[in-house]
Amino acid sequence: MHMDERLVPGDLNRRISAGLAKLALVLRHQAWSRGRPSGLTPTQGQVLALLDGQARGGLSMKRIAAELAVSQPTVSDAVAALERKGLVSRERSDADARVVRVSLTRKGARAAARQVEWPDAVGRTLHALDATEQESLLRILVKMIHALQVDGQIPVARMCPTCNYFRPNVHASADKPHHCAFVDAPLADADLRLDCADHEMLTPPERRRLWSLFVGEKPLAGGFPASSAMKGNEP
Ligand code: SF4
Repeated sequence: MHMDERLVPGDLNRRISAGLAKLALVLRHQAWSRGRPSGLTPTQGQVLALLDGQARGGLSMKRIAAELAVSQPTVSDAVAALERKGLVSRERSDADARVVRVSLTRKGARAAARQVEWPDAVGRTLHALDATEQESLLRILVKMIHALQVDGQIPVARMCPTCNYFRPNVHASADKPHHCAFVDAPLADADLRLDCADHEMLTPPERRRLWSLFVGEKPLAGGFPASSAMKGNEP
């Protein structure tokens, strides 16, 4: 290949995609390896990991399907298999009898903890990155997840830039420019959460406005989302 061909800018996207595909291959292989000792498929393992740490009462089948970006029949099969193994239980919601909620049994909670704690091949490679590179990577991941959400490829994640408590770029400090109004503390890019239990989802227009503030664009209108549920002091 001629040197000029290797430096064509459009080729960068293809090389990045190829790199991400390699990582995806490792993740898929890891998902199989994780579940194999306990006889779990990757989807069953994902369901357990998702239910781990959820509030009492578990999640509805619909919500699990949305979170994992798979069909409800796929979730239904995985949950039925997990129930046969004694790892989850299903019960009708008190609020709406049409809704079936899934939660971990005690045995399932132990299995879920193993899923979450299993040595992470990709995670180990992050030691090859210095702190600045790790921080940049996290911000890049947030942007990629956001793009996938906007494209409708994945459900909206419980991450800082979609949260009612997030105040992006409000501090002069370059180290910790953001603020979490839930814990009333400054946040660095490295502190951004991708799946926060305290997250409170904004409406789509509010998310668009907050995203503009996060990436440094001029906000579309107004300031921060005004929610009656807002906690903590404004920075
Ligand atoms: S509550 Fe969680 S998601 Fe929301 S801003 Fe604070 S750390 Fe981020």
